[in-house]
Amino acid sequence: RIVYLNGEYMPEEEAKVSVFDRGFVMGDAVYEVTSVLDGKILEFEGHMNRLARSLAELEMTCDLTRDEWIEIHRELVKRNDLEEGMIYLQVSRGNAGDRDFHYPPEGTPPTVVLYTQSKPNLADDPKAKEGIKVISLPDLRWHRRDIKTVQLLYPSMAKMAAEKAGKNDAWFVEDGFVTEGSSNNVYIVKDNKIITRHLSHDILHGITRASLLKYAAEAQMEIEERPFTIEEAQAADEAFFTSASAFVMPVVEIDGETVGEGVVGPVAVRLREIYLDESRKAAI
Ligand code: PMP
Repeated sequence: RIVYLNGEYMPEEEAKVSVFDRGFVMGDAVYEVTSVLDGKILEFEGHMNRLARSLAELEMTCDLTRDEWIEIHRELVKRNDLEEGMIYLQVSRGNAGDRDFHYPPEGTPPTVVLYTQSKPNLADDPKAKEGIKVISLPDLRWHRRDIKTVQLLYPSMAKMAAEKAGKNDAWFVEDGFVTEGSSNNVYIVKDNKIITRHLSHDILHGITRASLLKYAAEAQMEIEERPFTIEEAQAADEAFFTSASAFVMPVVEIDGETVGEGVVGPVAVRLREIYLDESRKAAI
């Protein structure tokens, strides 16, 4: 695999980052995951806008332009013959020598890493036909979940706990209400209305979420943005989640209780189709 590191393309074995890098030592880094279908990049502008916002919120600078970013994405797709899969992008605050809580001096170059992950069945994931099962867990993450940092230890723990319980993923709960999934935004459907938590610092502002809500509104579907509980989700007609790499994924069981009939429902199926169609059309 050919990867990108700080302005250069190289075989993955040759890509080395300093042991002093703040991404490694402090989790001081932000990232994006963008999907590729038919060799084209999905939701590029959305991911770049969110990256710029994450960087700004952390007062991190990276002087790559939009055109340079798209060129790197396309070059990696080309060099790795990527038809279907993802591109991982990470910007860390770089390193200024010794470990120090304070940010390094202005002008310290960030560390920029991008690489591809091939997933030949990304759009045709069999799980989308069966639906997935989730457990709920308390949301023990920090309170700026709108910034897409690499601090993913708690989501990792949550996914391991779900696996140990024989389930696929976890939904986080705070103050009695569902925030989001371990790596996705969550939704329920009741009487054909789509309900999903409103945006705030409590959740990541999903790029898939933004587009999906736009497409759903264009299709005259009713949407309500508000928090909901696990009990309300269990009693809903359908549940699903969205993320850049899973698109729209039906959820058929929460904490051992089936959602609706316990099978993939028509709204999730339709939204997945709309999302895949529209985002393929808009891919660049
Ligand atoms: N919430 C969290 C916590 C996530 O990690 C992700 C995936 N990165 C999402 C939501 C979904 O965001 P997106 O649709 O931009 O992938």
